Amino acid sequence: MARVTRSPAPSSPAPLPPVAVERAIRTCPNCGRELAERRCRLFCETPGCGYYLSCADYY
Ligand SMILES: [Zn+2]
Repeated sequence: MARVTRSPAPSSPAPLPPVAVERAIRTCPNCGRELAERRCRLFCETPGCGYYLSCADYY
């Protein structure tokens, strides 16, 4: 019989759970505004901020 050992929670370097990370990645790190999604890009709508992510960055 194979014995499967599963560690309940491997210590991860990031303090946030995956869901929170996904949420955070849609929020502008500069001003905290939720990023708008346009085609293959997430961008911040705050004037003067100019933060954006391309799909290559967040996928
Ligand atoms: Zn912003």
